[in-house]
Amino acid sequence: MKMKSENIIFDTVAIVGIGLIGSSIARGIQKNKIARNVFGYAKTASTRAKARELGYMDKIFDTLVETVNDADLIILCAPVGSNAEIMRNIQGHLKKGTIITDVGSVKKAVIDQIDKYLPDGVSFIPGHPIAGTEFSGPESGFAELFYKKCCLLTPYTDTDKVHLDKVVFFWEELGMFVDVMSPEMHDLVLATISHLPHLVAFNLVDTASKLENKKDYEVTKYAAGGFLDYTRVASSDPIMWRDVFLNNKDAVIEILDSFIDGLADLKDSIKMENGNKLESLFTETRNKRNKILDSIKKLDSE
Ligand code: NAP
Repeated sequence: MKMKSENIIFDTVAIVGIGLIGSSIARGIQKNKIARNVFGYAKTASTRAKARELGYMDKIFDTLVETVNDADLIILCAPVGSNAEIMRNIQGHLKKGTIITDVGSVKKAVIDQIDKYLPDGVSFIPGHPIAGTEFSGPESGFAELFYKKCCLLTPYTDTDKVHLDKVVFFWEELGMFVDVMSPEMHDLVLATISHLPHLVAFNLVDTASKLENKKDYEVTKYAAGGFLDYTRVASSDPIMWRDVFLNNKDAVIEILDSFIDGLADLKDSIKMENGNKLESLFTETRNKRNKILDSIKKLDSE
């Protein structure tokens, strides 16, 4: 199936978890020809059958061990709460020199789960491609998902420079900008820009539907435009997000406390009819958001 290419970074890549992210990586590898073989595994037979039917991997195995035992790079793409179980099952079956990376939306807890099962001669370089949609499953992936987005790597120990460079190069070949930061910083940044917005969206949908039931308001009938745009991410996979919140508890609670304080201030301003305060906050936040948009547009045009 594969042609030889100068872009090949790894001989065999094994992807554990072939939903939105895992299947997008597989498609990106095939499209950019950056590995000779791409193997995959999912927990259920039905997902494995679906992925075989879609046909973007060289082989989907029925067991984890067969999937990973000849891999040069293993990418863990299952929900973050599954990593310990996966590592326990594969730790005795990895060849020396294998690199493991992951895509989990939290980093400190994932490192704790994986590091204790790491055999000698195998490196773990934690990663998080900041790219996604609200869809899940192998049919929702696409090769361009990562294009012009940022991937954060959070090496936490004396990481082999050659291995780190290979993982950086891998994500760059999928179209990403790569930054390196500490796991702690990653978890705080992501709690702010991703985890809190998801929590608010889940809560907003819940608030609207409870109100609808209680007061017989026809909320959902009129929930077009803004409400749907704003709550898009509330359609995301519940298991993935359960695991994110349980595994980034401290950072999410820290950010949530400050968000709740901000909401309480807004509530007071509305109660006190303090229009000046509301207007000046909204002006400030509009300007800040416009600046963020400008910097993203600049990146897109580079
Ligand atoms: P997804 O579409 O729901 O896919 C999850 C995959 O993991 C499925 O193939 C599932 O198989 C498999 N899986 C579940 N438990 C497993 C286990 N114990 N062993 C092996 N495979 C298992 O999820 P996703 O959106 O791709 O998210 C996967 C990871 O990417 C998560 O860690 C998430 O934090 C991270 N991430 C997600 C996004 C996003 O926007 N979605 C963005 C960046 C990073 P079955 O279908 O057979 O259960």
